[in-house]
Amino acid sequence: MKWKLVVTLAVAATAPVTAQPTHAPSTRPPRPVIDSMALRAHTYFLAHDLLEGRGTGRRGNDIAALYLAAAAEALGLEGAGENGGYFQVVPLTEAVIDTGATKLSVTVDSAGAATTREFSTPQDFVPNVGTGATLVPFSGGLAYVGTAHDVLANPGGLPELAGRVALVRGPFASDMAAADTLRARGVAGVVQLTGDTGTYMLYVRSRGPSRIFISDSAHAVSSFIPRIPDAIASPALVRALAPDLPVAGSAEDRPRLLPGRGAAVRIGLRSRPLVSRNVAALLPGSDPALRGEFVMYTAHLDHLGISTPDERGDSIYNGFSDNAAGCAMLLAIARAMSEGPRPARSVLFVWPTGEERGLLGSDYFAAHPLEPPERIVAEINLDAGAPPAPPVIWQVAGGDRSPLGPLAVAVAHRAGWEAKVAPASPNSDYFPLLRIGVPAVFLVPAAPYEGLSAEASQALGRRWDHYHQAADEWKPDFPFSGLVRYADYAYRVGMAAAAAPRASLLPAR
Ligand SMILES: [Zn+2]
Repeated sequence: MKWKLVVTLAVAATAPVTAQPTHAPSTRPPRPVIDSMALRAHTYFLAHDLLEGRGTGRRGNDIAALYLAAAAEALGLEGAGENGGYFQVVPLTEAVIDTGATKLSVTVDSAGAATTREFSTPQDFVPNVGTGATLVPFSGGLAYVGTAHDVLANPGGLPELAGRVALVRGPFASDMAAADTLRARGVAGVVQLTGDTGTYMLYVRSRGPSRIFISDSAHAVSSFIPRIPDAIASPALVRALAPDLPVAGSAEDRPRLLPGRGAAVRIGLRSRPLVSRNVAALLPGSDPALRGEFVMYTAHLDHLGISTPDERGDSIYNGFSDNAAGCAMLLAIARAMSEGPRPARSVLFVWPTGEERGLLGSDYFAAHPLEPPERIVAEINLDAGAPPAPPVIWQVAGGDRSPLGPLAVAVAHRAGWEAKVAPASPNSDYFPLLRIGVPAVFLVPAAPYEGLSAEASQALGRRWDHYHQAADEWKPDFPFSGLVRYADYAYRVGMAAAAAPRASLLPAR
C-alpha cells in the first residue's frame, strides 16, 4: 500500500498542472491555472505607497515598469521592446497648470450693463485632458447643446455655433465623437457641466495638477482626448453659466443660444519634456507555422500618482484595482502559459504607460507598433478593476467589431458563464488598437457574482470599489478569488485565440 501510494504521488507531482482527465464530466469546473498568491504578491508591490501611485513620468512609474520587466525576465519571456529589451520609450510633454494664470470668466450682459465674474481652478473648473493644440485659451457667446448623446442623435437641432462656447451636459463618455461634431460646427471651445460635487471632484482628482500628452503634435490620438478645447465646470460654475438650465430630459431641455451670456477661458502652462515607458514581453508560440502571429494582452501600468488628499489626508492614489490588478493578471497569465500547455501563436504582453492621462502609451504603440499590426490577430485588454468575488457574467467591449468578440463569448459559454458583446468605448488601451484595425476586446466582469444575490454583490462592491480614489489600496483581506476568475477567463480567451484559424478572428474584408 505504501509503495503504491508513493507511485501515485510521484505521478501526480510530474503531471502537468493543467492536465484534464478526458472523462471529466463537462459540468465539473476546469482546474484553475492562475496562481492567486502571485496576484497577491504582484499587486502588493505595485500598489505599495513607495511607488507613489505610479504617476506617468514619475519615479514610481519607472519602478513599476522595471518590476514588470524583471518579473517577465523571471518567467523566461523575451524582451519585445526596443533594441531587444523590455521597454518602449514614449516621449511626452508635461504641461503644469499655472493656477494663478488659468481663469474662467463669465460675462452677463443685461440691459446694456455687463457684469463679469471670475472663476478659479481647480475649485471651480479644470481644463480637460488635451494636447498642445487644445490646451489653449478660448472665448465666445454661450450655447447650450444638451448631452453628447443629444449632439450625435440630432445634429440638425443644434443652433448656429460658429465662434461660440458650447455647454455640454455631462461627460462625453462613449459619445466622444460629439466633440468632433461640435468642432466641425466651428465651436471655439466646450464647457462640460457636472451635476454634483462628487462627480466634479472625481474629475479634479483624476486630471490632477498637470496635463501630459505625446510630444509629437502630428501624432494621432484616440478620441479619449477631445480634439477641441474643453473645460469641466463644477456645479457652482454651472449655476453662474446657465442659471435657467432646464431639468435634464424635460420638454424644455433643448439646444439653444444663451443671449447676453459669454465665457472666456485663459490657460497658463509651464511645459517640460517627460519620458515614460511601455513594457513589452513575448512568449514564443509552440506552433512553428503560427509563431509569427501574435495574441496580445494589455494592462496599463500607470495610475494617478500623487493628487488631491482625501478626507483621511491620503494623497497617494495607489491604484490597486486600477490597474495593479490588470498588471498582475498579465504576469499570472504569462506564467500559466509558459508552465502549462504552450499557446500555438506567440503571445505579446504589453503594459502601456499614460493610460490615465489619455491612452498615451497605447496610442504611441498604435503609431509605433512593436510587431506588425496585421500579424496581431487578437488583443485582450484587462482594466475593469478587481472583482470582489468570482464573476459569472462578462461584457466583451469592442466585441461587435470582429469575430474575436463572438469567440470570447463562446469561451465563456463553454465554462458555464454568461457573456455578451458590447460596443467599444475610448476608455482604455484596446481602443487605439481597434483604431488601427487590430481585433481588440476589453473583458469586463459584471455582477451579480457567483452564488451571490444582486444585493450581496452590491454590498461587496460598496466595500471594495474605490474607483479613482486614494482608498483604492491593497488590503490583506481582499478576496482574490474574483481576480483569479478574471485572469482565468482572459487566459482561456487568449489560449482559444492563439489556436483559432486566422479567418475566425479577423473581420471579413
Ligand atoms: Zn484603468
